[in-house]
Amino acid sequence: KPVIVAIDGPSGTGKSSTSKAVAAQLGLNYLDTGAQYRAITWWMVNNGIDIEDPSAVAAVAGKPEIVSGTDPEGPTITVDGVDVAGPIREQDVTSRVSAVSAVPEVRARITELQRVIASAAVTGIVVEGRDIGTTVLPDADLKIFLTASAEARAARRSGELKGADLDTTREALIKRDAADAGRKTSPLAKAGDAVEVDTTELTLQQVIECVVTLVEE
Ligand code: C5P
Repeated sequence: KPVIVAIDGPSGTGKSSTSKAVAAQLGLNYLDTGAQYRAITWWMVNNGIDIEDPSAVAAVAGKPEIVSGTDPEGPTITVDGVDVAGPIREQDVTSRVSAVSAVPEVRARITELQRVIASAAVTGIVVEGRDIGTTVLPDADLKIFLTASAEARAARRSGELKGADLDTTREALIKRDAADAGRKTSPLAKAGDAVEVDTTELTLQQVIECVVTLVEE
C-alpha cells in the first residue's frame, strides 16, 4: 500500500527541503503544493487578471493547465506547457499568492489536482503545503506540522533570497502566514492528528531524520 505523508506549516520552517529529502530517502514521489498555487498566481498576473477581485479570479480558475513533476531529485512545474519554476519564486508572485489561493474556486481546482497526483503514486508520496493534513489528504498515513520562531523563519528565507533585508523579509512572511491562516476556505492549520515538530533549534538533517523515523515507525 502506497505511503502518504502530509507535511504542513508556515513559510520558512524547512518544509520543502525536508519533504524533498524524506521523499528521496524513502523512494517516494514529492509534491510541492505551494508551487501549484504560485503557478496559478503567475498565470493570473501574466493574463492581466485583477487579483483583488475574487470573482474575476474565480471565473478563470479552471483555465490554466498546471502540471507538476514529482521526482524529489528534480521536481518540475509547468503552466500551459511553459516551465515556470523560476518566475513563480519572484516577488510579484509571492506577494499575490495568498490572495489568489484564498479564492474557493482556485482551492477546489488545485485540491482536485493534488488528489489525482497523490492517488497515482505507486510507492507513495510526500505532499507539502498548508492544508494537506486537514483537507486535501485527511487519511494520510503520517501528518507532520512544522513550526519555527518568526526570527528563524525570516533568517532562513532571507538566506535563500541572498542579501534580502531581514526585517522586510520577516514582515512579508508574517503577513503572508496571517493571510493564509485567516482565510475562510481550508486555512493553514495543524490537523488534530498531526505530529508537531518545532524546527527552531534543529538542523535540517535533524528534521529529516525525525520525519524519516516517524514514517518508518
Ligand atoms: O509553500 P509556499 O510558500 O511556496 O506557498 C505559497 C503560497 O501558496 C502560500 O503562502 C499559500 O498562500 C498558498 N498555499 C496554500 N495551500 C497550500 C500550499 C500553499 O494556500 N497547500
